[in-house]
Amino acid sequence: PGTLYVVATPIGNLDDLSARAVRLLGEVARVAAEDTRHSARLLSHLGLNKPMISLHEHNEAGRIDSLDRYLEAGEDIALISDAGTPLISDPGFLLVRELRARNRHVVPIPGPCALIAALSAAGLPTDRFVFGGFLPAKPGARRQALEAWKVREETLVFYESPHRIVHTLEALHEQLEGREVVLARELTKTFETFLHGTPASLLAQLSSDPNQARGEFVVIVAGAPPVAQSEQQAIDADTLLETLLGEGV
Ligand code: SAM
Repeated sequence: PGTLYVVATPIGNLDDLSARAVRLLGEVARVAAEDTRHSARLLSHLGLNKPMISLHEHNEAGRIDSLDRYLEAGEDIALISDAGTPLISDPGFLLVRELRARNRHVVPIPGPCALIAALSAAGLPTDRFVFGGFLPAKPGARRQALEAWKVREETLVFYESPHRIVHTLEALHEQLEGREVVLARELTKTFETFLHGTPASLLAQLSSDPNQARGEFVVIVAGAPPVAQSEQQAIDADTLLETLLGEGV
């Protein structure tokens, strides 16, 4: 049987496509892509013209059997998304999960990923981080998500749809006022910028230069300050006392 290669593609700069990715895209029989028209441009840039299969969030489950039949017939397939690493806020999870359950070969071809690129150059702690994907668009759900994250000590990273960055900074200002935030914008592209500040100072920077509010963003937020150990012990002592009293000891 063939292999499914999960191939990372550029997030802006075409030179970031790895030599291994280029070779595999040339070798596979077919390419499964989130948006076949978008990916056809990448393939034609490489001088390739491959049979393509669309695989997006609305048809993914229904495509698994037909892709598996190609693998069964010995064909190798590359899975790519519009940008970056497939499955990272992109389609492919259902396919990979099911193919693994069927004991197929699934091989990653690592490369660009906006979240990792942003973390690698933002200057906020990277030893532990939480990736939140996209923040919910609706204010209530967004508030709830931020409420849950507020107490986490790990660096928080999330993706942002263009046009929503100001709303997100307003929500951060409301709920995580004063936290250190880095906006990584247009990574690997001509207008790549890293803006650093608090939610309030970033809102001011964006309103004084509206160009800074355009494009694609990764938002990185410093984690909550660690709860001091003496404080933690005091809490533990309280909990213990309550438990003992509650049990009538
Ligand atoms: N699979 C992709 C990856 O590996 O990064 C992410 C896909 S997700 C649908 C798209 C989001 O990723 C954008 O809304 C933005 O938050 C982030 N992103 C993608 N490319 C970016 C870039 N060049 N600069 C900043 N953020 C980017």
